[in-house]
Amino acid sequence: QRIAVLKERASGETRVSATPETVKKLVALGAAVSVESGAGLSASISDEDYRAAGADLGTAEALLAGADIVFGVQGPDPALLSGVKPGAWVVATLDPFGQRERVDAYAAAGLEALAMEFMPRITRAQSMDVLSSQSNLAGYKAVIAAADTYGRAFPMMMTAAGTVSAAKCFVMGVGVAGLQAIATARRLGAQVSATDVRSATKEQIQSLGAKPIFVENVAGIEGEGSGGYATEMSEEYQKAQAELVSSHIAKQDIVITTALIPGRAAPRLISDAQIATMKPGSVIFDLAAPQGGNVEGCVADQVVERHGVKIMGFSNTPAHLPADTSALYARNLFNFLSAFWDKEQGKPVLDEEIGDAVRLTQGGKVVNARLLG
Ligand code: NAD
Repeated sequence: QRIAVLKERASGETRVSATPETVKKLVALGAAVSVESGAGLSASISDEDYRAAGADLGTAEALLAGADIVFGVQGPDPALLSGVKPGAWVVATLDPFGQRERVDAYAAAGLEALAMEFMPRITRAQSMDVLSSQSNLAGYKAVIAAADTYGRAFPMMMTAAGTVSAAKCFVMGVGVAGLQAIATARRLGAQVSATDVRSATKEQIQSLGAKPIFVENVAGIEGEGSGGYATEMSEEYQKAQAELVSSHIAKQDIVITTALIPGRAAPRLISDAQIATMKPGSVIFDLAAPQGGNVEGCVADQVVERHGVKIMGFSNTPAHLPADTSALYARNLFNFLSAFWDKEQGKPVLDEEIGDAVRLTQGGKVVNARLLG
């Protein structure tokens, strides 16, 4: 099996889908790995590092011609893959709902496209879960970026010139990113509170030393749907949540929003009227910015000022920590291939549960239930 590791072409993408560590492990598994020259530069990995780990270096055209498996962070342009043989795998985050035409093009080219963000959230797939690995570091980066933009300090400081009070930080949406945001804000010394629609998160918030802020006594508050994901909430709940948030948010210095609902636009959690109640100088970091935003007025990759409050969010937060996010992403891909590696055939063979979940195209057709349904 020849694995081709492409240099990412999407604007602002700094990550890479294999590292010298995973190249070494893939070679040990029995694969040959070719890396496009310069693929790792923006993640601080040189061509020489890859070569030392056992990879060949070359142009995209050369390495794609012999590839059985193509690795990417984002889905490669189908035009770039014109020389890849039918039946080859494309393993990347493919944004299947957002980039449906690209998925159709992979199908037309006879490629087998595997969307890593469709990995089931089950225990045995945890080590292959790119959404978790990338969200985790994104949650950290959101707090760091907000702290950097905030004109005050996070921790309480007692100095000879007087005391600086601790920042109050509120995290909305306590999934993987939110939990890491809470932990990071706590480490920086902020007073942290958090909310979610899933009541199971209450205990997790407390165990990190933060205060849970929850809507109580409203019918149908349990917002946990299939696979532990959030569902859309009732109107009554949304109203109660808006009131609770309004009173709480006015006292906050930093707000980190992370709320997502799979397959839908991000829910609106903070309106312009609510921003107007916040203290000037406060900072809101919207991790849902690429999915349409939780915060009214948020523009990805800009700091927008409304009522003296700075609203920010990145279109690609993991790309702001390329060395670490690449290292974890690359391990996710290695863990995926190695879990299914069939020694006799010398190639990966997927089982039904995970194969059916991640496979978008096969035999010239779109085959994924989530896309056909
Ligand atoms: P996500 O990125 O889909 O959403 C982020 C958070 O926003 C979620 O906690 C969600 O409940 C919350 N949210 C949605 N709408 C909201 C609203 N209106 N107000 C407030 N909060 C709102 O979440 P995620 O990080 O992908 O995690 C989703 C689930 O998957 C969690 O239950 C998590 O524990 C689970 N998970 C399981 C595994 C595994 O077992 N392999 C791995 C990762 C995550």
